[in-house]
Amino acid sequence: MLGIGKVGWIDAERPSAGPYDAIVRPLAVAPCTSDVHTVWEGALGDRKNLILGHEAVGVIDEIGSEVKDFKPGDKVIVPAITPDWRSMAAQDGVPMHSNGMLGGWKFSNSKNGVFAEFFHVNDADMNLAHLPKGMPREQAVMLSDMATTGIQGAEMAKIKTGSTVAVIGIGPVGLMAVAGASILGAGRLFAVGSRKASVDLALEYGASEIINYRTGGLVEQILEKTDGKGVDSVIIAGGNENTISDAVKIAKPGGTVSNISYYGTGDILPIPRIAWGMGMSQKDIRGGLTNGGRLRMERMADLCIYGRIKPEKMATHIFEGFDKIEEALMLMKEKPRDLIKPVVLLDE
Ligand code: NDP
Ligand code: ZN
Repeated sequence: MLGIGKVGWIDAERPSAGPYDAIVRPLAVAPCTSDVHTVWEGALGDRKNLILGHEAVGVIDEIGSEVKDFKPGDKVIVPAITPDWRSMAAQDGVPMHSNGMLGGWKFSNSKNGVFAEFFHVNDADMNLAHLPKGMPREQAVMLSDMATTGIQGAEMAKIKTGSTVAVIGIGPVGLMAVAGASILGAGRLFAVGSRKASVDLALEYGASEIINYRTGGLVEQILEKTDGKGVDSVIIAGGNENTISDAVKIAKPGGTVSNISYYGTGDILPIPRIAWGMGMSQKDIRGGLTNGGRLRMERMADLCIYGRIKPEKMATHIFEGFDKIEEALMLMKEKPRDLIKPVVLLDE
């Protein structure tokens, strides 16, 4: 990111590892819609010469003197969120906010990201996970952010076994939320989106019904299908600033709205007064930056190994070579209708 709305290539110093850190060379990277918010909406404010990217699988090039479980040559899954585990926020159960709100989100935010020949990982033992033998890179790279975020959307939604759930937005994040809601026991499961590739995969991942928000209001469609009752849990994984309002409208009293969307613009998000019971509806509105760290990545890997999720199916566009990263990022910005997620494989 050269500045708001501008991307290009820069030469940067090779990062160096502190005692607990690692320097990693990427083997696969993927652009995220968050990179698009950051660059083209300037959502985090202006950033000059910031290296983008926070989704990667890589190989360790160098380790600090105190790193115990990894050595150069080890292949690793790199989480998008790499908290400071020796922080009060980590003790308080929100490691992703270590050292300030969103502080665990370092790559492509507070330090250079993974679209580089080498990148720095803080606290390697606590943040990296060994790449399981035989796991394809296009599967593993989906765990850094897409799987952990989507599944966290389902976890925050307090899904009860057999309850009714709506996932608004079925890009790669929402698709993983559909998969997560299905694993956590959703009964009826609405998926809101329109792109055919996503719709097909949502059905495969466990959605029971598709709502096309382009052919009618999603609120009206879901209320009609539920006889005006609405749903127990709503997961927001796409849309615009008004989507939170839609979500409150379709949640039942006592229901949960779980937001994992990144609002790139606007100062205030609208909560509808009446649908929120004039403030007394017991409708819970929650939002969260995803979980990172090693244990989370190991668990995401187990979901793949034991056949619970198949995130590699979202890799609709696979590129090879470093210089394709820009094309993949632009694809994520343009979102052609056959795209779910681009992945770039790099020299092993
Ligand atoms: P995509 O852009 O690929 O998908 C967005 C989805 O929302 C699509 O299914 C799209 O439908 C749907 N949509 C668009 N407009 C509306 C609308 N008005 N009403 C209902 N649905 C709509 O996004 P990603 O899956 O890549 O990312 C989703 C969000 O998650 C982004 O904001 C991203 O920044 C954020 N994110 C958050 C993280 C976290 O830690 N919380 C981590 C990673 C990402 P259609 O099929 O028509 O395109
Ligand atoms: Zn992301």
